[in-house]
Amino acid sequence: MLKELARAKINLTLDILGVRADGYHEVSMIMQTIELADEVELEKISGGISLAMDATKIQGGENIPTDERNLAWKAAIEFQKFCGKNFGVAIRLTKKIPAAAGLAGGSADAAAVIRGMNRLYETRLTEKELCEIGARVGSDVPFCIIGGTCLAEGRGATLTRLTPIKNFSVVLAKPDGEISTAWAYKTYDENPAKTHPPNEKIIKQLARGDYDAAFKNFFNALEDVALKKIPAIADCKKKMLAAGAKVALMSGSGSTVFALTDNNLIAEKIAASIENAQVFITKTF
Ligand code: ATP
Repeated sequence: MLKELARAKINLTLDILGVRADGYHEVSMIMQTIELADEVELEKISGGISLAMDATKIQGGENIPTDERNLAWKAAIEFQKFCGKNFGVAIRLTKKIPAAAGLAGGSADAAAVIRGMNRLYETRLTEKELCEIGARVGSDVPFCIIGGTCLAEGRGATLTRLTPIKNFSVVLAKPDGEISTAWAYKTYDENPAKTHPPNEKIIKQLARGDYDAAFKNFFNALEDVALKKIPAIADCKKKMLAAGAKVALMSGSGSTVFALTDNNLIAEKIAASIENAQVFITKTF
């Protein structure tokens, strides 16, 4: 039996540049791995795939499928196809990352299965090959395979590693209500944002450790869309900033809002200031 951690991500920025010929949106996002993680256990079986999941610790866990629609299952299928072998695997997921929350919980599980099967079957695939398999499962999966701090472009699967940002506390607030990524992008297309994050500038600011300047430029183009459906997002941001957060922003297509601080006591103060939302304190990874 082998264990992998499936770490969640937050979007420090999210920009949408248009719709591509293949129907995906052209994006430019600065992504950051965080310590909050699902646990993934993998065991060899004679063939095929089986999946057991404990999602009792997260809200809405009962809505996550445990069959071939689960992204962990899809990842195992794509791994087998890529290798041309019936590498049997029993997957056990313990969910800790809230679902449909903008934290890439499903993509993180898929990435952990791909990394884990490479170890389990000693297939020695390169990181590039693992990312190629991941991209067949979902646009965020390659980033979840690589992790750290990255610029994600194209449909999200073209990655450039950035200078890792230092050890910040991350407070997550997940207000009630789920936002599907498909709905968010469709609604965005009807009313595109007029503001765009200056990603090139932010990358330079992060590289020289000028975090205060970088934080001021963080922006998520989907935030306005999500706010229309879940107004509590604005309330969370306001409370986080009032409690001392250096920055507070929605992640991905929402509805999770994150706050960053380099002070553990302020992180606790931020967490305590939030009402009517699930709260997690974690760290950048
Ligand atoms: P993103 O930031 O990539 O949009 P998200 O956090 O908004 O991700 P996920 O948690 O990845 O969204 O889940 C989105 C959908 O995927 C849900 O409808 C969920 O039922 C489905 N899903 C499939 N497999 C999984 C999994 N292993 N864990 C969580 N959700 C999964």
